[in-house]
Amino acid sequence: MAGNRTFTMIKPDAFEAGNSGAILKMIEEAGFKIVAMKATRLTPELAGKFYAVHSERPFYADLCKYMSSGPIVAAILEKDNAVEDFRTLIGATNPANAAEGTIRKIFAKSIEANAVHGSDSDENAAIEGSFFFNQYERVI
Ligand code: GDP
Repeated sequence: MAGNRTFTMIKPDAFEAGNSGAILKMIEEAGFKIVAMKATRLTPELAGKFYAVHSERPFYADLCKYMSSGPIVAAILEKDNAVEDFRTLIGATNPANAAEGTIRKIFAKSIEANAVHGSDSDENAAIEGSFFFNQYERVI
C-alpha cells in the first residue's frame, strides 16, 4: 500500500524569485497537508549528502553548488498516495517536458533550477524528511 507522506523542497531559484507562497498554495489546493515546514539553507556539504545518490552523475557538482546557493523551504506533506500524487503535481524533471499546469512547468527555470524537489519513493520520503526534521518537529 502506498504511504501517505512525502518530502519536498522549494529550491533556491523559486525561493529567490518569491514563488514560495504561490507554490505552497498549489500544494495545499491539491490536497496536501503540511505537517512540518521550515525555511533553511544547505551548505555545499549538506547538499552533497542529500544528493549522494547522484554523486556519479555529471551534474552532481553543479547541483550541490546550486542547491546551496540560497535559502530553501523544506516540508513534509501528507495525503493519500502522497509520493506519486506529488510527482504528478510537480511534473517532469526537465520543465520543457513537464505537463501544463504542473509546478515545474509554471515556475522552473531549467532542468537544474526546477523549482521543487519531490521524493521518488516512500522509503526516500522518510529518509529525506528525517534529514531536515527530528521527531519533535514532526508531531502534528
Ligand atoms: P527529480 O527526481 O525529478 O528531482 O530528478 P533526479 O532525481 O533525476 O535529479 C535530481 C535533481 O538534479 C533534479 O531535480 C535537478 O535539479 C537536477 N538534475 C537532474 N538532471 C539534470 C541534468 O541533466 N543537468 C543538471 N544540470 N541538473 C540535473
